[in-house]
Amino acid sequence: MNNQAAVLYAPHDIRIEERPVPKPGPREVLIEIKAVGVCGSDVHYYEHGRIGSYIVLQPLILGHESAGVIVDVGEGVSKSRIGERVAIEPGIPDGTCQQCRTGHYNLCPNVRFFGTPPIDGAFTNYVTVPDSFAYTLPASMSDEEGALIEPLSVGLWACRKAQLRGADHVLITGAGPVGMLAMKVALALGSTEITMTDVFPQRLEMARKATPSWKGRCGWYEPGRRGQCADVVPAKPRDNPHGNVPLCEHVCGCDCAGRDGSH
Ligand SMILES: [Zn+2]
Repeated sequence: MNNQAAVLYAPHDIRIEERPVPKPGPREVLIEIKAVGVCGSDVHYYEHGRIGSYIVLQPLILGHESAGVIVDVGEGVSKSRIGERVAIEPGIPDGTCQQCRTGHYNLCPNVRFFGTPPIDGAFTNYVTVPDSFAYTLPASMSDEEGALIEPLSVGLWACRKAQLRGADHVLITGAGPVGMLAMKVALALGSTEITMTDVFPQRLEMARKATPSWKGRCGWYEPGRRGQCADVVPAKPRDNPHGNVPLCEHVCGCDCAGRDGSH
């Protein structure tokens, strides 16, 4: 059993290295990784070596959107799990702090999150996680789709926070993978009108191709070149504080859309 890992040493410097195969501890499972997505955060660490106060100070394995198959189990885990295909929840909380004990383990300040300095991630052959953080995948779902469960959860949470219900009208700024997954969730929840914006028209075209059931409108905005909107949201003068400027320019000029669409 070999464990090869893609290790980031510095921006644009990733080396393939042999690492020891981790041993599953009590209530842990050993997973052979089969698919890993590349998140915008992975790209930031690769390009710049940091995201804000998270800085790569020592060699780091990136990747936190992953799926694989359980190949060994630690003490206290049923051996029947061996061979199970699973999606991995990549943020491992301490389980003891106030947030964890009040049921908000996603807010644990001591979380150990895959691929975030100094915690190694999933661009490696084998990882261990608590067995409750390895979610069984149905046979109908591919490994790649399993790796998309984590970013899907971001879109799902966004739609929950927005309290979407059937027949809602939705604006999604940024048509990257997370924006597209949010759009699919909004469709599944019955939203009848979904508008997407991005700084790159090709992303919007991809969103249309990937989701034929999306009949909504879209608009794109090129920073610094006002009025470059295609397929703009029709502006009703009374709704538009900018007079004759297409509403699209107003709504998709958000900084976050530009940043989200930058990779
Ligand atoms: Zn905690």
